[in-house]
Amino acid sequence: MDYSIAENALTDRVILVTGAGDGIGRQAAISYAAHGATVILLGRTVAKLEAVYDEIEALGYPQPAIIPMDLMGATKQNYQDMVETIEGQFGRLDGVLHNAGLLGVLSPFDQMDETAFDEVMQVNVKAQFLLTQAIIPLVKKAPDGRIVFTSSTVGHQGRAFWGAYAISKFATEGMMQVVADELAGTNVRVNAINPGGTRTGMRAKAFPAEDTSLLKTPADIMPLYLYLMGPDSRDVNGQCIDAQPKRQPGEAKS
Ligand code: NDP
Repeated sequence: MDYSIAENALTDRVILVTGAGDGIGRQAAISYAAHGATVILLGRTVAKLEAVYDEIEALGYPQPAIIPMDLMGATKQNYQDMVETIEGQFGRLDGVLHNAGLLGVLSPFDQMDETAFDEVMQVNVKAQFLLTQAIIPLVKKAPDGRIVFTSSTVGHQGRAFWGAYAISKFATEGMMQVVADELAGTNVRVNAINPGGTRTGMRAKAFPAEDTSLLKTPADIMPLYLYLMGPDSRDVNGQCIDAQPKRQPGEAKS
């Protein structure tokens, strides 16, 4: 996306990023902080979150916060407690990036393991549902609220062997559209991003043999992440936007 956000466009905004310890979420947290946001880093591996925290502090950006949470086991009460903590500590929540995701096991549909299916649906769908439900009242109080989901190319075009992951991303796009429509008359804009093939651990797991130098990095795709979290996307709602619209889906080949 050819877009450049104003330097301090996210100043005073408090933004929660899930899966902030690695990959795209790590970069999004740093990029939001670089533009003035106070970021709340949510994830399951505290050491990774601490490393991102230290990086943001060392760069002199607003002091972040860490919420250790495993989306696999978190309950409705956990999300409600989390929102209370955020409201108590920061008094507001302006944006949420639903980024954490689980690839699961790629396999033929008739061999898909039930437990693996449940795990992917738990992290990629149910956790987002419960988290979104919990944060809506607080984000609605923000003057210019944003909820951004993360989809995938296989979230709008199914592909052989991508089983639970593809199904979960279709569900994510459906959830985004439902919430966007319900909040259409409010100050909150709700959209989704399809990152497209990006150089991360998840991508390497899905395509272990590809030449990773041909892939965009998380930093390369940040313009769309900044656009949908910032003030310039005020008139955009209910959309799933490709971060790499010209890219052909599938394995990167030289
Ligand atoms: P990574 O695997 O690199 O990072 C995923 C992050 O989610 C990690 O920080 C991970 O934590 C966290 N996470 C996973 N499970 C849980 C859990 N149970 N509780 C809390 N946090 C969890 O993935 P990417 O950065 O590649 O992907 C980010 C998003 O983008 C995902 O939603 C993915 O589906 C989507 N996407 C990615 C594409 C790509 O090519 N990279 C393409 C299309 C979509 P930990 O570090 O502790 O494992």
